[in-house]
Amino acid sequence: MKVVLENLTKIFPGRDRKKGEKVVAVSHFNFEIPDGKLIGLLGPSGCGKSTTLNLISGLVKPTEGRIFFGEDDVTELPPENRGIGLVFQNYALYPHLTVRQNILFPLQNLKGKDKLSKEEMDRKVMEAAKLVQIDELMERRPRELSGGQQQRVAIARAMVKMPKVLLLDEPLSNLDARLRLKTREEIRRIQQETKITTIFVTHDQEEAMSISDMIVVMKEGVVHQIGRPQEVYDSPVNLFVAKFLGTPPINVFQGTIRGDRLYIGGDAVLSVDGVCDKEVYVGVRPEGFVLQKEGAFGCHLNRVEVMGRDISVVSAHKECFNETVRSIIGTETRSDIGIDHAVQDGIVRFSLIPHKVFLFDRETEERIEAEVRSL
Ligand code: ADP
Ligand code: MG
Repeated sequence: MKVVLENLTKIFPGRDRKKGEKVVAVSHFNFEIPDGKLIGLLGPSGCGKSTTLNLISGLVKPTEGRIFFGEDDVTELPPENRGIGLVFQNYALYPHLTVRQNILFPLQNLKGKDKLSKEEMDRKVMEAAKLVQIDELMERRPRELSGGQQQRVAIARAMVKMPKVLLLDEPLSNLDARLRLKTREEIRRIQQETKITTIFVTHDQEEAMSISDMIVVMKEGVVHQIGRPQEVYDSPVNLFVAKFLGTPPINVFQGTIRGDRLYIGGDAVLSVDGVCDKEVYVGVRPEGFVLQKEGAFGCHLNRVEVMGRDISVVSAHKECFNETVRSIIGTETRSDIGIDHAVQDGIVRFSLIPHKVFLFDRETEERIEAEVRSL
């Protein structure tokens, strides 16, 4: 089922009505979510992710705009008539019911022509339980389950009616790191098996990048970029998006374009086509550095961290906004030249890989479309 958001906007009245400080939680959100895809809705806390999800579910009424499921306008439909499955961070299971009863619950409330026989209900409950691999735990109560198991029950309960759209609001946030990894892979598997259009909310960029067909990056109620994870990573539209994606984060420097050269501090690091004589921000992804004896870009070496497959060179530069400059050097780029060759008098020298370098306008922080090349 495709989901279309048309100019979707939610403005909350301020807590203090007299002062009239309104909160624009979601502003003019337009997006056609393709059928059968998993969409990661991503952004820092308070950017409007949950509000967007609640608008789609019908728990919150929009101030403006429309929502379509397929060709049907569902804007005025109550949540229970939208055919959605919801999963929240805190599982929200019924504590006095067993796993089986928790999953069964949504089916028992079906009325009229949708009403199911007991056998049909049992079959559907078992199917949903098998899907999330908790069919061995059916008679337990939530308090007898681990966090990961509880969240599986919550997912099974959301899936048992085979929703048209599955909405997940930070479903992994209460799980420990290992379980988070495992459960996110499970969610991806379930989504691919069932092909249910799924919207997955998270503030964790890695989580969103790893399982989504497309990501939506939001800030302060406004959508900044929508695209496939790799596309957005490789081609961020502005400084915010560039900084929000990637670990370690992108390194941001003050830079200047003079003639056809890009300077960071005194070093001419790359040549630039299409803009000249401009103050810019320069973003360099950690994997955009190559150790090189005669490299154009020098930083003060702090230390080298060995991470198994790669090494991380930690350095400092006075034009860098990050506390340290973090570069990840892969084995390929390391084998022909050891770190020692690229260091002299405490300065480590790099050349920069052009497509890992982005330029941003200092005022608008928008990406500058310019061709960047090696010197
Ligand atoms: P996120 O899920 O991305 O952390 P939310 O969608 O929960 O963000 O909130 C977006 C903004 O709307 C925040 O500034 C939040 O304080 C505000 N907000 C959310 N719900 C309400 C509400 N019921 N009343 C007033 N303001 C709200
Ligand atoms: Mg939220």
